[in-house]
Amino acid sequence: MIQPVRMNNVKILDNEILHFQKNTISYLLSLEPKKFLYEFDKISGIDPGDVTGYAGWERSDKVNFRGHFFGHYVLALSQAILMVDDKVVREKLVSKLEDSVNGLYDAQTNYAKLHPESAGYVSAFKEIALDEVEGKNIADEDKENVLVPWYDLHKILAGLLATYTNLKEQLPEISSKALTIARRFGEYVYNRLIQLTYSDYMLKIEYGGMNDALYQLFEITLNAHFLTAAEYFDEVTLFESLAENKDILSGKHANTTIPKLIGALHRYVIFTDQELQNKFLDTKQQTKLMMYYQAAKNFWDIVVNNHTYINGDNSQEEHFREPSALYHDAEELDDGQTCETCNAYNMLKLTRLLFTISGDKKYLDYYEKTYINTILASQNPETGMMTYFQPMAAGYTKVYNRPFTEFWCCTGTGIENFTKLSDSCYFKKNDQLYVNLYFSNELQITENNLVIKLRGNKQRNQFDLTVSKLDSHKPANPIQLYLRKPNWAGSDSALLHNGQKLESSVNTDGFWQISDLAPGDEVKINFAMNLNVVNAPDNKKYVALQYGPYVLAGRANSKIEQQNLDHPGGVLVRMAIRDDTFPRTITSEVDFSSWQRQVENEAQIDFASDNLIKVTLPHIAEDYDFIPYYQVYKSRYGVYFEWQKAGSREAKRRRMKLE
Ligand SMILES: [Zn+2]
Repeated sequence: MIQPVRMNNVKILDNEILHFQKNTISYLLSLEPKKFLYEFDKISGIDPGDVTGYAGWERSDKVNFRGHFFGHYVLALSQAILMVDDKVVREKLVSKLEDSVNGLYDAQTNYAKLHPESAGYVSAFKEIALDEVEGKNIADEDKENVLVPWYDLHKILAGLLATYTNLKEQLPEISSKALTIARRFGEYVYNRLIQLTYSDYMLKIEYGGMNDALYQLFEITLNAHFLTAAEYFDEVTLFESLAENKDILSGKHANTTIPKLIGALHRYVIFTDQELQNKFLDTKQQTKLMMYYQAAKNFWDIVVNNHTYINGDNSQEEHFREPSALYHDAEELDDGQTCETCNAYNMLKLTRLLFTISGDKKYLDYYEKTYINTILASQNPETGMMTYFQPMAAGYTKVYNRPFTEFWCCTGTGIENFTKLSDSCYFKKNDQLYVNLYFSNELQITENNLVIKLRGNKQRNQFDLTVSKLDSHKPANPIQLYLRKPNWAGSDSALLHNGQKLESSVNTDGFWQISDLAPGDEVKINFAMNLNVVNAPDNKKYVALQYGPYVLAGRANSKIEQQNLDHPGGVLVRMAIRDDTFPRTITSEVDFSSWQRQVENEAQIDFASDNLIKVTLPHIAEDYDFIPYYQVYKSRYGVYFEWQKAGSREAKRRRMKLE
């Protein structure tokens, strides 16, 4: 199988991406493990002293998700430690992680002393919350008001497993302690679940990636208890429908569904090892294994082809809606609640894993699109705070979390996203190196004694790739380079290997292949960028623009908005408010296909603006400037607009509505 190159082997050199990472690391350092541990301590009979807990989704007095953010926090710390060069900052991060893991260890140990029958439980809420999931009657005054308890527990488990995996070499002590907590917790889960008379209880309420995390725990330990526990969280009937390629997603909560398929795929991947398969699966289970892969593959195709906006994200009001109804969802339902950012985080995890199995370039094209246009797009570069929803319709702003009083799901996945920005840049299989993302970075390949430097200009997508030895005294092993030819790259794209133009015949399955790349070699990469009009499947005149890999957002003026940006909704979430005076249209004098040609041929691209690029469209009535969507913050924008012909019936109707 192809393997992702570990993120700590890739040094980010792109200043903008480094800035995003720096912001998140500052945010991590501003948070206190003790305050997160407050609820864990209370539950496990440890006196928290004069510490107080955090508010927002971590609160305990009203509906809450307590514990969830702490899991993300632990996970993000374990990644940040890998990514940071500055010794002082690294020490601070390590100390936060140690406090966190030690705190969880103590809470778990103490809980086991008080409740030996529940040894292994480690949580910010009482077990009663899990009893409730299992349909037991709980008196109102005893309820914990935890909306999705297994979801919260999954985050803790995932944080511990990431700490174990990421820091095995760097911090062996803390790494193995994290695994100990995870093992004990896994045993608790196993003991709890095997007592169930009706095994489907947990499938009814969002549980994040419990199956995925337990499969991972099984993969690490090869303890069959964890395999059994993981299987309790597999929604096999869902997988079977998807394996039959049925789009049954309409009405399903997107971020509940996506992780289930990551778990399904993880099961498949583990048991591609024939020995493990023979040891742990019976014949029937072995026969059924392919179904899990088929389900994950089909699910990905269905989501990406039928439910995904131009930025790579999906959903409206957190749910999948009817297939291919993007215009209806973004514009007619009209509430700024498209594209929950968590969904893209989870789709990228699924995508990464699908690529490692199949080597199919379509997964990497999707990865790049979503990485730039949803993930990078989710952070406010000034404050480092992150989005929940990302409105696709015109007239909204992006709404970012508050640092200490909200702790949304998307802030949790957000701190993970921005501490793994070099993850999935490269993939490797033996001596084959796949290049996925194009921004300035440096890759070290110890086993081949090579350093690959990619430097260049992401504004124009022109890069130089150079190769040198990592240790000049030792021999180097050449590699086979597979450069992804992006699906947006125009026919003028060119590659020069040591000054020689590579012919397109070298192109294999969408990759440019260079054999025996060795120290001293140089590759010049020039991807031709075009401006394209992309439309919604249910309304060809609902249009968005993309220049090269960059989705564009149109701003009607540069005024910085301060008021009426958002309103409260859901559990402590805030949604953007649309400004009805913001134009939603693109009005042209010519018909649609001529306009499209005009845009593609006559639009002005300004490379000297404050943003990466600025695009001005020819011959339209409205006054917009288009900049990369990922760089929009503060101002109102539109990604999609309703195209209309000047003087047409729709144009008159819309104008009357406004007046
Ligand atoms: Zn979310």
